[in-house]
Amino acid sequence: MWTLVLNCGSSSVKFALLNLDDDRVGLTGLAERLGSAGASARLDMEGERRTADLRGGSYAEAFAVLAGALDELGVRTQVGAVGHRVVHGGERFHAPVRLTDEVLGEIRACVPLAPLHNPANIAGIEAAQAAFPDAAHVAVFDTAFHQTMPEVAYRYPVPGDWYRQHGVRRYGFHGTSHAYVAARAAQDLGRPLAELNLVTAHLGNGCSVCAVQGGRSVDTSMGLTPLEGLVMGTRSGDVDPGLHDYIARQAGLSLSEVTSALNKESGLLGLSGLSNDMRELEEAAGRGHAGARLALDVFVYRLAKQMAGMAVALGRVDALVFTGGIGENSAAVRGAVLARLGVLGAAVDDEANRAAVRGQAGRISAPGALAALVVNTDEERMIAEQTRALLAGVSA
Ligand code: ADP
Repeated sequence: MWTLVLNCGSSSVKFALLNLDDDRVGLTGLAERLGSAGASARLDMEGERRTADLRGGSYAEAFAVLAGALDELGVRTQVGAVGHRVVHGGERFHAPVRLTDEVLGEIRACVPLAPLHNPANIAGIEAAQAAFPDAAHVAVFDTAFHQTMPEVAYRYPVPGDWYRQHGVRRYGFHGTSHAYVAARAAQDLGRPLAELNLVTAHLGNGCSVCAVQGGRSVDTSMGLTPLEGLVMGTRSGDVDPGLHDYIARQAGLSLSEVTSALNKESGLLGLSGLSNDMRELEEAAGRGHAGARLALDVFVYRLAKQMAGMAVALGRVDALVFTGGIGENSAAVRGAVLARLGVLGAAVDDEANRAAVRGQAGRISAPGALAALVVNTDEERMIAEQTRALLAGVSA
């Protein structure tokens, strides 16, 4: 059976077609700039790249192109399941769930918690259900893995009614990736996941760390929204909550303008004044660009502090795990973080660290030091696996 994995954003859809029975990837692709005149799709299949204009720029059109590609591959009727990435499942969803009208309604009820993401996820699900009516559609939530966090980790010290009436608590995101790399790290360490205490760091454009105890999330750095925690490409991560009022008055900004600047103009971009892209910043810092150097230093310092903080949630740390575009590729960031985490017993093996790039993951810690690993994340595969497991359980 083939499983189609869809990740619908507000202006893009990422797709992957996977066959878990024999470990085959049928195609991968991306439709971009949806909703605008320049919308287009690219599909990588059978060793070549195809592109298509999507003149109307809708999800429906993107899925029509995808369906055409599935016909060409001769697998359209064998797509038994569609796994959808859904960003926010609130407190309602602790695990993947088969999509019904009732479930869609509950995802809709989570829109106020993720006003940018959930509406796009819902629109994508509806269009995909119309395009692939015979497949079982499953929602896999970014927040679900973190629903095991204890109350001490998920409550904010704010008025209790904010939590009870408005759901103000920490939810956490990137759950699919943290769960996947924790399981992979256990395999790489040759130990049962159930026995391990891991700190996983997902470092992409968005960044978060997670304390994983016996395969369950017990704390994470993102909170009510994906803005809390680490320095990210354009997101600030933690700031003083008093900052909003102060800068609104001083700079004459509205609350939504402040929020937008914290999401889109801050982080590595805000600190460097140059770029949100780690690769570009490493190059610029190498040439002596002071802003790029500062951005790297703050990124690493705050990341190391958060990772060390996760040791409190775990009590004992067995390994540190790096993943995501930065975690898998930046030896400089990993090396600098491990140097700051000597307090946990971390020490880097420089040669192994330099050698670890995407596709060449492995152990990067010095012999005798706290284990540190690079693991390649694969959210599409994890969504496909969870989708299959749910459907197997349902039909069993
Ligand atoms: P997303 O979160 O959008 O999936 P990725 O996981 O691909 O993004 O991560 C993107 C980040 O990874 C960017 O900051 C990019 O610069 C960084 N990155 C990718 N390759 C390298 C590299 N070789 N060295 C340093 N950073 C890299």
